[in-house]
Amino acid sequence: MNTTINILWTGGWASTFRVAYAALVGKRVVIPHYIVDLDRHSTMHEMRAIANAREALAQLDEGAAERVGALAITPITEISLDVTVTRAYWQVAKVEALDEQYDWLARYAKSRGLKRLELCSSLHDSVGHILRGRVERLPMGGCRLREGYCWPYSELFPWFHFPVLALSRWQMRSLAERHGFLSVLEHSWFCSRPCNGEPCGTCDACRLTADEGLSYRLSTETLLCHRFRHTDPVTTEVAGCRRQLPMR
Ligand SMILES: [Zn+2]
Repeated sequence: MNTTINILWTGGWASTFRVAYAALVGKRVVIPHYIVDLDRHSTMHEMRAIANAREALAQLDEGAAERVGALAITPITEISLDVTVTRAYWQVAKVEALDEQYDWLARYAKSRGLKRLELCSSLHDSVGHILRGRVERLPMGGCRLREGYCWPYSELFPWFHFPVLALSRWQMRSLAERHGFLSVLEHSWFCSRPCNGEPCGTCDACRLTADEGLSYRLSTETLLCHRFRHTDPVTTEVAGCRRQLPMR
């Protein structure tokens, strides 16, 4: 059996869970991939989270840490253009709220011949909703797009496996606790729009983190931003949130 797996490691909760679980519990060799999006405000936070999680894993189990290879880093600008993939992305995006990253992730996987790149979307992520009813379970766990599924999904998603699509963030936490690697998971980063080095409390990732039982990971101030995110700036200031909230 080929024990090597390719994982897109963003430094987030789900992908850090998958990397640690695969290396520690599954004894798998992991090749982690990271795409540098120069416009993404959280890039340095994510790379720091990856480094810290790797160190925490080594403290738990040196062998497991050694099974996680060097990060394969690719700037987003180095990913080959592919009109076929991009056309399929826009076709899906006409009817589904699908983030543009699925265009370049599909182009990345296709250009490198990665047929089983693991994407760690979880139960309540937007792509989890989009793929519901369109995936089949794998014998080793996780899901992939159903064999023979129609275009444009067949152009966009056949490169990926989704190992944690059926899990919520809280379920991942419970599993990490049971297997003794919660300390690794707690180094993950979750905010896509950090402000002054802190999670913003208002982006989708912060919202999901708070709503799925992990609000302890947000500071008091960030939680206030989260709770008052739909109200006007005056109200948020009264609530004690000093940061500029994005207009929605
Ligand atoms: Zn945020």
